[in-house]
Amino acid sequence: VKTIGVLTSGGDAPGMNAAVRAVVRTGISKGLNVVGVRRGYNGLINGDLIDMSLRSVSDIIHRGGTMLYTARCDEFRYESGLQKATQTCIDHGIDGVVVIGGDGSFRGARDLSLRGIPCVGIPGTIDNDIACTDYTIGYDTAMNTAMEMIDKCRDTAQSHDRCLVVEVMGRRCGDIALNTGIACGATSIVVPEVPFDMQKDCLERIQKDLTRGKRHFIIIVAEGYGKVEEIAQQVGDFTGITARALVLGHVQRGGNPSVRDRVMASEMGHYAIEKLLCNGIGNRVIALKDSKIVDFDILEALEQKKEFNMELYRIAHEISI
Ligand code: ADP
Repeated sequence: VKTIGVLTSGGDAPGMNAAVRAVVRTGISKGLNVVGVRRGYNGLINGDLIDMSLRSVSDIIHRGGTMLYTARCDEFRYESGLQKATQTCIDHGIDGVVVIGGDGSFRGARDLSLRGIPCVGIPGTIDNDIACTDYTIGYDTAMNTAMEMIDKCRDTAQSHDRCLVVEVMGRRCGDIALNTGIACGATSIVVPEVPFDMQKDCLERIQKDLTRGKRHFIIIVAEGYGKVEEIAQQVGDFTGITARALVLGHVQRGGNPSVRDRVMASEMGHYAIEKLLCNGIGNRVIALKDSKIVDFDILEALEQKKEFNMELYRIAHEISI
């Protein structure tokens, strides 16, 4: 391997820049040429490449978003796109690619590896929805942002004796909801992984709390469950307190990455280059398992099933009374 490409793909996440920086600096220090590929797989298809130097990744470790831009690229799913991308790699002597993104991006990395361009994936998404890894870059920052926003809204909920029903991100994964729910003292946490009984798990809990003198409530709902307006309506109808629905939205994807995200991105970025250099076939994805950085075959990684932390969910339920 002499020249590697690095790209960010799918939804952006805080810490992606730190990962790009680690990939570029590790690559260069190991004697590789590093090429930045812009806007995900689009950059490989269109030849939108920039030569990276040690200094081109200066001043980005603390920034959210991604300096390489990111995008979704439908064409890459099809033979014609894959062929163009492979040709771009051949034309520019790119003999390895580091792909920072989510599950979808790893599927693309697998396809490109099968075409003879070894790829290594780094999990970059705020959702923490990748089965093979306990952690994805951006997750910690997103949770802290959500927590801060909910804290601010809590002031109003408390001052006005209201119930606040907040939707947090995570797509089909309830991890952000579970953790921010605990951190913000939510009365109920609603996630797609656990059946939710509106009457028993929410309305009756609030009713009981009201009799104990509690006057304001926070309900955290995962994006994968949704329906915050409906929940707020039912809370209002059943309990008589004012309930407001709020979707936090994209604010959770932005902002300066936390310490955890910067360090994890740096470690994973470094490890990805080592993998690419010692394993000529690529098709690997970097993961955090039991606090250790490890790697998996992409196909095996994609077949794993994401586990939900039921124990933590039970604890949350028990202490939110
Ligand atoms: P994420 O990587 O965050 O899961 P997406 O699912 O949107 O985000 O995937 C990002 C990009 O990865 C897509 O736009 C596409 O270029 C590529 N991709 C997604 N799914 C596949 C697939 N099944 N095969 C090949 N490439 C894919």
